[in-house]
Amino acid sequence: MGSAEPLRTMTCTAMNEDLHCHSTVSDGWLSPAEVVRRALANGVTMLALTDHDEVAGIDEALAAAAGTALTLVPGVEISVSFLGETVHIVGLGVDHRDSRLVDGLAQVRRGRDERAGRIAAELERVGIRDALAGARRFAHNPELVSRAHFARFFVDSGLMPDVNTVFRYYLAKGKPGYVEHEWATLEEAVGWVRGAGGVAVIAHPGRCRFADGDMKRLLERFVACGGEAIEVVSGSHSDAEVRRFAAIARQWGLLASRASDFHGELESPVDLGRCAPLPPDLNPVWSRLAGNDADGQAVRAQGD
Ligand code: AMP
Ligand code: MN
Ligand code: MN
Ligand code: MN
Repeated sequence: MGSAEPLRTMTCTAMNEDLHCHSTVSDGWLSPAEVVRRALANGVTMLALTDHDEVAGIDEALAAAAGTALTLVPGVEISVSFLGETVHIVGLGVDHRDSRLVDGLAQVRRGRDERAGRIAAELERVGIRDALAGARRFAHNPELVSRAHFARFFVDSGLMPDVNTVFRYYLAKGKPGYVEHEWATLEEAVGWVRGAGGVAVIAHPGRCRFADGDMKRLLERFVACGGEAIEVVSGSHSDAEVRRFAAIARQWGLLASRASDFHGELESPVDLGRCAPLPPDLNPVWSRLAGNDADGQAVRAQGD
């Protein structure tokens, strides 16, 4: 009898993109390299690391992805104020060394730091002491204290059972630890992303608390300043929201993104690469991010 066929490595060419997630550089639980390894284990073929207001994790993620089956897209999630609400703009395929982007994000982080002090002062008024020091214990990046870190401090102290409950009682708009804050403008955020060669995406639009008229204003201003894509599938979207934002993508001619917004096993409803597929008629934003990172080179947005 002849010898058995040698084992061959099967190459899976099916796309499994996940274009929004977090590491310890912002409020995720895993380091950038651990995020890449988890994504690979979950079969992700293209991953964007999009930490809040910071690109400091990109080099570590690129190094972890080099020589693997995963294409790492350098990204960021920028906090924006628009019509009195916070909107998140994801940038995909950015040059993470672009000086205007880097300087703009540093400015946003300075505001974030100042906001953290005001959050702690408000919590002090309702009897929650030393919240800033408590939140800082969970923030690996001292320049990036997020409300998620405050929420972890509450849970760790036994004051609340889980982070969702902390948001509900203390950190959501209208609650004692919520403070108004001026983040970047929409034009600044989209301008920084485009200036760095990236594609700007409206993140988890289902979490924007806008009435229809204000959502239209957001879309008009976003498109007018060069925004091109919207998260249709997001870890925080219901099926109805996927349908709603798919219709908006068609109507406004926007590219569609698919993204878990993964922060960690215990805090995220959807794991890396485990989102529903995009409706097949939409133009996927990943088509603009095609590239090869085999040498650890950054994947940039292609063409216009
Ligand atoms: P910040 O950018 O500091 O205002 O914090 C926003 C972050 O808090 C989000 O990116 C999530 O990580 C987290 N977050 C916001 N709302 C909730 C919620 N309801 N439950 C759990 N985490 C939340
Ligand atoms: Mn977050
Ligand atoms: Mn967000
Ligand atoms: Mn996010």
